[in-house]
Order: sequence, then structure tokens, then C-alpha cells
Amino acid sequence: MGESEYSFSEIEKKWQKTYEEEKVFEAEPDPSRPKFFVTFPFPYMSGPVHLGTAYTLTRLDVVARYKRKRGFNVLFPFAFHWTGTTITGISDRIRRGDEKTIEILEKMDGVPREEIERFKDPVYLAKYYTEKNRAALKDYGLAVDWRREFHTSSLNPGFSTFVQWQYLKLKEKGYITKGVHPVVWCPRDKSSTGDHDRLSGEGVFPEKFYLVKFRLGDSHLVAATFRPETIFGVTNVWVNPDALYAEAMVNGEKWIVSVETLDKLADQMRTIRKIRGFKGRELVGKMVEAVFTGVRVPVLPASFVDPSLGTGVVYSVPAHAPYDYMALEDLKRNEAVLKEYSLDPGEIRSIKPVSMITTEKYGSNPSEKLVEELKIKSQTDPKLEEATSLVYREEFHKGVTLSNCGVFSGLPVQKAKELVIEEMKKTGAGDEFLELPSPVVCRCGTRCHVKILGDQYLLRYSWPEWKAKALKALERMGIYPKEVRENFTYFINWYDDWAFTRTSGLGTPVPWLPSHIVETLSDSTVYMAYYIISIYVNNGVLKPENLTEEFYDYVLLGVGAPEEVEKKTGVSADFLRRLRYEFDYWYPVDLRNSGKDLVANHLTFYIFHHVAIFPEEKWPRQISVNGFLRIEGQPMHKSKGVFISLRDAVEKYGSDATRVTLLLSAEGLEDPNWESEKASKNIELLRSIYGFILSLAGEKGSVRNGHMEDWLRNSVRKRVKKVTDALENMQIREATSEALYGLRNDLRWYLRRVKEPDADALREAVESWLNMLYPFTPHLAEELWSKLGEKSLLANHPWPRVVEADEKPLLAEKYLAQLIEDTYQILKAVKKTSLARLRLITAAQWKNNAFKEIIETAETNPEKIRGILTRHATGVSKEELGRLIGQAVKNLPAMTEEYRTIMKQVLEKGEQNILKEAQPFFEKEFKCKVEIISENEAPREELENLVRKKPPAQPGRPILLIE
Ligand SMILES: [Zn+2]
Repeated sequence: MGESEYSFSEIEKKWQKTYEEEKVFEAEPDPSRPKFFVTFPFPYMSGPVHLGTAYTLTRLDVVARYKRKRGFNVLFPFAFHWTGTTITGISDRIRRGDEKTIEILEKMDGVPREEIERFKDPVYLAKYYTEKNRAALKDYGLAVDWRREFHTSSLNPGFSTFVQWQYLKLKEKGYITKGVHPVVWCPRDKSSTGDHDRLSGEGVFPEKFYLVKFRLGDSHLVAATFRPETIFGVTNVWVNPDALYAEAMVNGEKWIVSVETLDKLADQMRTIRKIRGFKGRELVGKMVEAVFTGVRVPVLPASFVDPSLGTGVVYSVPAHAPYDYMALEDLKRNEAVLKEYSLDPGEIRSIKPVSMITTEKYGSNPSEKLVEELKIKSQTDPKLEEATSLVYREEFHKGVTLSNCGVFSGLPVQKAKELVIEEMKKTGAGDEFLELPSPVVCRCGTRCHVKILGDQYLLRYSWPEWKAKALKALERMGIYPKEVRENFTYFINWYDDWAFTRTSGLGTPVPWLPSHIVETLSDSTVYMAYYIISIYVNNGVLKPENLTEEFYDYVLLGVGAPEEVEKKTGVSADFLRRLRYEFDYWYPVDLRNSGKDLVANHLTFYIFHHVAIFPEEKWPRQISVNGFLRIEGQPMHKSKGVFISLRDAVEKYGSDATRVTLLLSAEGLEDPNWESEKASKNIELLRSIYGFILSLAGEKGSVRNGHMEDWLRNSVRKRVKKVTDALENMQIREATSEALYGLRNDLRWYLRRVKEPDADALREAVESWLNMLYPFTPHLAEELWSKLGEKSLLANHPWPRVVEADEKPLLAEKYLAQLIEDTYQILKAVKKTSLARLRLITAAQWKNNAFKEIIETAETNPEKIRGILTRHATGVSKEELGRLIGQAVKNLPAMTEEYRTIMKQVLEKGEQNILKEAQPFFEKEFKCKVEIISENEAPREELENLVRKKPPAQPGRPILLIE
């Protein structure tokens, strides 16, 4: 069979079918084997599984296959996530006829129009993608035990019983509390909006803003700010003349804020009664008085004011806020605007920045300084953002208030801020307010704001005891790559109480509050335990009504007596014991692999909930994370068309080439990059490996070529060790590359080196190679395995023995490979393509003795080297000795550790012996007569002649004579 006949789609299907028929990946407890339980965070069924998911998944699949071959009983289950508003959000948008959503579904996901119509039903949508994705994942060929598959939410009553049990345990053990809680809120869904429920604004959390009041008649114009201490530097107030504002009673006081602000205030526990609405231009030109200081300033127009951010009212501190500075400068120059609002140009131009803070770095008017330094020309310059953050950081950490700040003068800014806030709250001149520092848009398309929920059920992540336990679990856990450990420490410490109930989307009802569901991040923290139950729910042995609190208490925690539990659940005591045994056998999870984005939420929750529910021996053992896949250098983005589904990749490149392309693309936290051209090339690579291995299998001879079979055997050992070490450390790219290319290079060298290969030695090497290829290109390796005539499956064959290689034969070969390379260099230099004769003249015995001493003592001092060589010198002219010393000293930098190890071996074996053994190889390689001579036996006068033209022979560096 030739290379071109490797048809991946046929072969991949064939082996996937065999694995399924032979139940290769169906894992049952087996007390005679250690177990290894790997899990992958279930993907959302709101779209097709893409190559980014496949990348993370493939890394785990490699480990699962490798561990099986190392004798572990490996369990790799899979499930699908339906919880939350991700799925319902798409249905909502389709119902509303959202063109963008429909276009993406049609063009990127390839969903037929009539199916999109049915997507108005979220359950249909979830089922549709679950079917499609299961099929795509199966065609990709994962080492998954599919019997345990499930999906989340109350649409799967079995799974819901598990989540309800989990929350009963958390409540019972004191991990749940009730209280007030700010959330990011979608006013349309009337539900809080987690990271995964957002179209944009992932990772944005509510932050404290401050409300600062300005008196305007019997009303208050209320500005919002991050820096209330800067009130001493105010020169004016900005409003957006085109935005809508409202006069309203807020907790009994008359306020003026943007219309958008009213809902936000109402959602932060204030009572609101709107009096009237009007355009912002009505406020322009009015004088207002800062309640806190009594200073009177004008209201001026500014288009940069966003009515949706804060209150739509901003007070201006040009000395310390570069935006304010530029906006004021722009206004002073803008005759048209001044005229439009009947503002007195003289008065406006007389407004000067009021300095109130000083820092060593920027002085007391940082805005002016930075605007000049950064050459900022107008208020639309993006560099203003940078200037703002520079000023903010410097002043917040190192600033001191000036003497114009009343009782707050001469204080560090941080202290002044604290005291000003306290005083404003006390006197009613200002207040606190929560706001999103940048926009968040819900999946339903609505802009979110902060809502303070009263009476909320919260997971007590702020509880120090809980944090301490989580940190303890982290400490004993393996984390890959290791630098991620500190991120986990940070997030465990950082989390505050977490509201976990929602009123919209799919999910499991909170057991004591059935009108609410457990949100999407909170119902997926310990579900890995459910894989042990789900297999029996799927095959009908267990019914959801069997899965009571007593059932889980016994099976997962060992609480209760099986006979008692039998009475309450209807599950026989024997079967309960069996389930308890199975849980005990499989749990904990040995390795969970995920994208790095989940460290901040899901994986931290995973640790928190395990330590809350399970005893120490069931805490997770290892977590591994990886980067984010890019497509041809672009971040994956469906709406921009940068997206490749797993289905498309498998159809185009096949599973093995897709796997290899993904696996070779990155290591550690770096973001992998998918290049379709590389994927096509990898198909060719796999075809060439296929052809190469088949050609090796065709060799029949049985010739011992001296040490070359030893060399091959030890090269294989070395490769096995390297791949094994890399896999154990989750360095999957390193392992893939070594498995694909390493042994191929070795085998090529072996074939080149011997006159006729030894079929047994080749066979042994090829078997090891196929075993090493299997985790990365399982289908290709399995096919070749069967082509070699093996009757049992490669998938079930043990990993090659991991033993240290004998370095001696490897070192001698390295010397030889270098010599061949040098010879080619010389041929190239003299532009010769064919040779009549090649003579290699090795160093005299006394030189060998001297170099042995230099190498063994690792001598690097030139004077000492001169001493050693002089001491050993026999039968050599003074001139020649001088030249040898000069050369040895010149070559000192090349005397590396590796070189010394190689030379030790060469001297031990005898350079003459090595070369004589390799003589036929040299003759084959250079197609000429080859002579190996020692200086000791070379004709004297000929040598004398040579000495003048060439560097003297040195051990390891024979003189090369070409004719
Ligand atoms: Zn919404």
C-alpha cells in the first residue's frame, strides 16, 4: 500500500466503530487497577462546538488515552450545559425577529431556515444542538464513555435532583446566607445577568460611585463621580444638551438627573416619583451651588456626557481631570456653541483650573502638564484615557491635598477621600451609588444596570473558614501550568458572597424557593459526581423519584444505613452499596482541563463547592488550563465570521490531522492559533508517516549491524522517556512534537547508517512508535498497528516501558553525525560533489591521553591546558605542539558539558574503533574509498606536509583528507 492510499475519513470511521463495539472507553470500577478520572467543563448547547472547545478537549483526550495505556482505569465522561439565559436568549431574539441573530445562525452555524423558526422554542434549540454536537464529537472520536451523558436544568429531572441535594447540603452546613446583594441586572428579563448571560461586558462588576449634589433653586442637580474629594477643584458642571433629563422626588428630595438614572436609583432601594422630563439644554447656563462647599459654578454643555453612565451629570475638575480640561479648552474656542447657548465668551474664558492636589511627579495641575506632554489636541483624542488613568493612579497613591480643602487640607488623597465621603453622607451633600464602570449588554440585547436585591440567598464565599478550606485544597492540588496557582489564590480570596438564584432562563429550582432557579455557574460545581449516577438513570435502573436526599447522602457521603435508605428510596440496599462503592472508586476527579477564562469563575467555584460538600479525600486532585484559540491570527468571533466548527474541521481535515494541528499550536497559557494551511500540511505529514511505517514493516532482513541496533533501542527509550515526562507535566505540544518527529528522525538515521536494516530491530522501534503516536493520532496509529498484523487493539496495548537509556551508544553516534556534517561542510566549501578517496587521520595516542585528562578535570585554564599537553607530548616537534596548544585553547568555548560527555565516550571506546566500524557507512555516504589512519601509523613525511596546511589532528577532530 502506498502513501496516497491513506484515506482518513474511512479509516477514522472504521476504528471509531470498532472502539464502540468493543466498548473500549466504557469504564467500570476495577479494584485490580488504579483509576484516573478526567473531566471537561460541559459546553453550552447554544451553538456548534468550535475548534477552541476542541483544543481544550483534545488535550484532555490525549491524557485519557495515555493514562489508559499506562494501566489506569480511565473514566472520561461528557455532558451538555443547558442552564441559564444563553439558550433562552437566542429564542427570545428569534421571536423578536432579530436579524443579526438569524443571520449568524444561518451563515455561521449553517442552520436551515425552517429549523431557525423552531428555535423560538428554547427546548427545541437545546435539543437540536445537543444532537448535532454529540454527533460531531463522536465523529471527532473521543475516548469518552458516552453511556453517562446528560444535560442540565429541570428538563432533566434526574440531574435536577442532584443539584437540589447539593443546595440542601450547602444550606444545612451553613454555606448559604440571606442578605442584600448588588447584581448586574437586566431590566427586560427582570433577572441578574452573569458573565455567561452577556452579549458584551464580561467580567464587569458593580463599583462604588458617589453622588454629589448641586443646589438649583428648590432642586438638586446630582452629579456622579469616582473621586468625590475633588469637589474642592470644581469649576463647572457638565450636562449633555441633547439628552433627556428628569426632575423627580427621590426619597422625598427634589433631584435632577438623566431619565435613565431614575430606574437605576429605584433599583438601588430609593423611592422615585418623576415630576417632569426635559432636554439637557434647558440646564445650560444656569448657576448651581455645590452643597458641600457652597461654591457657585455654571452648568455647561458637553456632548461627551453619557446619560446612561452615572447620573448623566458630571462636575468638572479641569486641574485634575484631563477630559474636563480639554472639554473646557474646546468650549472656550467654540464660538458657535457659546453663541447657541447664549454663554458669555468672556466669562467662560475666565474659568481657570482650580488646583487642590499635588504630587511630586505631576505637580498641582497634572491635566495641563499631561495634555502638553502627550500632545493632546481635543476632547476626542483617545490619549485622554491614558492621561486620566495616569493622573488617577498617581494622585490616589501619592497625592496630598492643598490648603484650599478646608479641614481636609494637607491629607493624603486616600484619607481625604474617605473623610469627604463620610462627611457628605452625614450632611446629605452626597451619597453612595453602585454603577457598572463600562457597559454590560444582556443576551436579550438590553443594557444592564446595578440592582440591589434584598432578601437574597447567597453563597457565603466571603466566609473566612470557607476560603481557608478552599486554599488548603488548592495547596495540595496539582495546577498546570504552575503560574496559574497564584490566580486561584487571588480569586479565592477576592470572592464576596454570591447571589445564586435567578428568575429567568433554564435551570433547577431552588429546593426551598421553587419560583427561582440555581444560576448557571452555581449548578455546575460538583456535578462530576453525578456521572457515577447518570449511567443508571440513562439505562432506566434508577428513576428520578429514587434520587432523594437520603439516596445521595448515602451514595455520595456514606451517611445512613443502606437498609434504611432502601425503605426511603425504593433502591435495594445491595444496589445502594454497589453505587457507594462505585462513587468511592472513581471519586475524586484526577484531572480537569479547561480554558484559562474559567479560572476566575467556574474553576474557583469548583474548588469552593467540593470543599464545602465532600471530605478531604474527595477534593479535586489536578487542574490544568490552556489559552484561547485564535483563527488565522484573529480572536474567534462568530458575528465577525471568525469561527470554525468542529464539524467543519473534521469533515475537511479528518480527526487526526485536526488533533495534531490543534495540539502543536501552543503550550501553557499562550493562545494557540489555528492555521488551515498547517492543517492541510498535517494531512500530508500523517500520510508520509503512514507510508514510512509501512515501508519499514516491509523490511525482511535479519542482520546485526554491531552497535546500531543498540543505538536504535536506546534512542527509542530516550524518546519514550521524553514523551512520558512531557505528558505527565501537561506539556502536550512538546509531547506531540516528540512523538511525531522524534522517532521518525531516529529511524531515518538508522536506515542511512546501516548497510542493511535488521527487521527485528525495526519492528521493535515501530511498535514503540505506534504506541507513542496513539494518544495524538489514535486512528492512524491503530490502522498501522493492524496493518502490522497485530490482532489486539493498540488502544488496549500497554505504553512502552519507561527506562533510562544507555547513553554510550548514543554518544558515539553523536560524534559520528557531527563528523559527517563536518565532511559535508568541507565538500561544500571546496565545491566538490564527488570524491575519489577520503582519508581520516585520527590523533596520536599521547594526545588522547592528554585530552582524557583535560576532559576529566574539566580544565578551562589555558595555562593548565598548555601544561597538560606539554607533559604528555611525545615524538612531536615544538612547532606542532605549539599549534596544537593554540588550537585547543581556541576551541575552549566549544568544550561544553555535552561535548565532554561525548568525548569521554569516544576516548573510552577508541576513536579508531568507532571510525573503523563506521567505515562502510562513510563509503556508502560519500560513495568513495575511505581510509582510517592514526597519526601513529601515518607516513611521516606526508604528515609533515599536512601539518603546514591543516590544523593538527585532535581527539574527536580527525584530519579529513579529500581527493
Ligand atoms: Zn435580558
